[in-house]
Amino acid sequence: MPRKYTDEDRRKIVDYYVAGHSLREVVERFTPTNYTTVFECVKAAGALRSNEIDKDRREKLIELYQSGTPLRRAAKAANISEGAANRILKLAGIDIRSKKGAINECKQDVVSLYSQGFTLEEVGNKLGFSVNAVYQLLKREGIQVRNLKQSQVLNWLRPEYRTKLLIKFGSFDGNSPSWKGGMETPTRQIRGSKTYSDWRRGVLVRDRFTCQECGTKKNVKGNPLHVDHIYPFRKLLADHNIFTVEQAEECPELWNLDNGRTLCKKCHLSTETWGGRAGKRR
Ligand SMILES: [Zn+2]
Repeated sequence: MPRKYTDEDRRKIVDYYVAGHSLREVVERFTPTNYTTVFECVKAAGALRSNEIDKDRREKLIELYQSGTPLRRAAKAANISEGAANRILKLAGIDIRSKKGAINECKQDVVSLYSQGFTLEEVGNKLGFSVNAVYQLLKREGIQVRNLKQSQVLNWLRPEYRTKLLIKFGSFDGNSPSWKGGMETPTRQIRGSKTYSDWRRGVLVRDRFTCQECGTKKNVKGNPLHVDHIYPFRKLLADHNIFTVEQAEECPELWNLDNGRTLCKKCHLSTETWGGRAGKRR
């Protein structure tokens, strides 16, 4: 139990704090005392610095931590840095669990989230552990950690990830310098579908196999005919959230002949939207 403080004690505590020491240092300097007493004392004197952690946040941290929440997650929930949280718990006389022990307690959650396809980082963020801690646990549990290629394949199954990449890399036709995978991408699959080739054929027939810019006809050696999208194909896919051939087939906007035009290779290469590089010139 803390002893009864005299006004003189209180003044010393406040002076020491105002001199620039942290609450922790004040507690250590005036042993036996505790964090709450010092905090209240300084606060009553109107000397509390704005970045000090108030009682509510400390209590929240302690409660969460004692109920088994990992340190990192409890600290985040209480809006306290991990280092400060560590000190607060120590000052409150709470034993800090080893990191290994903490993650072992959440073993099932870690394994379950990882098996659902979340990345090491996402699992770590959700549960409040580092990427390495998650990785080590999975290894201890004998779970095969996915390699980069497997992760990429898995990521394709997640709409938000695909949308991000579709927008970032455009058509994913393999020409992008950023694209290093050898996977069959959704765009490629759609371009390889029967519906796509029908649409393409439809445009060629309508244009009588003639370049709509320069009038070149088909079968000119070295200058084949292409079918160009007036509104870029990749933008259409992104606009309609299309990631599979099935979704594509059900989207009439993709198969509108009016959005296609026949161009010879030379004319096509000179368009700004060729190969998905809308707005970029090389
Ligand atoms: Zn042409």
